[in-house]
Amino acid sequence: MADFGEKCGIFGVFGRGLEAARLTHSGLWALQHRGQESSGIAASDGESIRVHKGMGLVAHVYNEESLESLPGHIAIGHNRYSTSGDSEERHAQPIITEDKILTLAHNGNLPSTRKLEEFLKSRNVYAEGLNDSELMYEALRFYLARGATLETAVARAFPLFTGVFSLLVMTKNKLAAVRDFRGIRPLSLGRLNGGFVFASETCALETVNANAVRDVKPGTMMVATKTGLKTYRLARGEQKLDIFEFVYFARPDSILLGKSVNEVRRNLGRNLARENPIKADVVIPVPDSAIPAALGFSQESGIPFDHGLIKNRYIHRTFIRPAQKLRDNDTQLKLNPLPAVLKGKRVIVIDDSIVRGTTSKQLVTMIRRTGARSIHLMISSPPVRFPDFYGIDTPVQRDLIAARLTVAEIEQFIGADSLHYLSYKGLIRSTGLSEKLFSTSCFTGVYPVDIAERAHEVSRPEAQGVPLGRFTTI
Ligand code: AMP
Repeated sequence: MADFGEKCGIFGVFGRGLEAARLTHSGLWALQHRGQESSGIAASDGESIRVHKGMGLVAHVYNEESLESLPGHIAIGHNRYSTSGDSEERHAQPIITEDKILTLAHNGNLPSTRKLEEFLKSRNVYAEGLNDSELMYEALRFYLARGATLETAVARAFPLFTGVFSLLVMTKNKLAAVRDFRGIRPLSLGRLNGGFVFASETCALETVNANAVRDVKPGTMMVATKTGLKTYRLARGEQKLDIFEFVYFARPDSILLGKSVNEVRRNLGRNLARENPIKADVVIPVPDSAIPAALGFSQESGIPFDHGLIKNRYIHRTFIRPAQKLRDNDTQLKLNPLPAVLKGKRVIVIDDSIVRGTTSKQLVTMIRRTGARSIHLMISSPPVRFPDFYGIDTPVQRDLIAARLTVAEIEQFIGADSLHYLSYKGLIRSTGLSEKLFSTSCFTGVYPVDIAERAHEVSRPEAQGVPLGRFTTI
């Protein structure tokens, strides 16, 4: 029930005189990288909530007519990302039911939904077949239907939300932004012409010309109403942002915890070069996500940067395709090698992560075929050894190549002349922030939000004799 992992993009607007749905449309456009499976916007004019959603990219889901059909000064939007193979339209968000008393957009994942299910069952709410986001919706709806205000409904339901969530919840005249007590998924507040804007990433605030104000604090709810913005503390919060946002997921022009994602990625590359001094003729990135790290590597090592792989911009993140066979084809469709850059050269290839190993193997084969003399694959993060339960939905542990094989074995599997990962220390150092501010679960197996009954899905490589190398845990 809880395995509809989603690392999505959410965006919301509240402001007199603002065309909320149109602004949300622009915001979702800027957050397209966070989810390409479906998109939706719900808007309210203070009288009633209307919604438009569909499968596919923002560019495909909306047209002038659909935006016209969403009048009002309050809106929330959602881009959905799902890797579980469950890409049905009925799961598209924002979630809304016939009675239209509320609508909700969720980024995150609840590893355990037991508490929510038990609550709904005890209140005779039918919840069969609902995913984690839909269960949260039903709990809020339960309270609202009995006359609670939005603020009270969220405060009452919050303890039932045992997991990771950045949420936007809208009634016909209020907008609430809510974050779990660890703040695992990002959520920022901006101001625009006296109104309020919330976005998963600051790049989307920038797109609508809103001024970034600050992050929504972990364990708090911010509620925008016609009288202004109020903050409520729902739990004792402690910031633990998912460090994978810096490694891969966020857009480089976003600011997370006050740090430029682009700058942090550059530092990842610089530290990778410091840790692995090696002679080569050229440094190339796996586009687009590894470009800043490759630039940093080149700057630090003095080895020239070049583009050796050209990306087809119209093919989207390979993970979106659930079946392994489709993913294999995607890599070839997505990237073409440039022989003039690679032939006869000692090539350093920079990528941000290896998850299943599919991409790296394909790339190394492709670059070798192009005539490279040697290929050194450098990864700007440590080995991903532990599954994610917080909304990235990196697969079950046995599918993570670094959970099964040592670095030497992975090197052999992908066929590179050498393979190097950034150390865990190097990763933390690159952020310029304290390790305490992060969830590093995919690298360390330390899960700051309880994964409850899912804990049995995690096995510890140390126990199986796989060395953890330079790993330290919190
Ligand atoms: P894999 O082929 O499974 O090893 O995937 C690794 C590639 O996917 C790398 O090039 C990453 O840039 C990218 N990647 C890493 N994490 C994710 C994720 N959560 N969703 C989509 N792509 C990812």
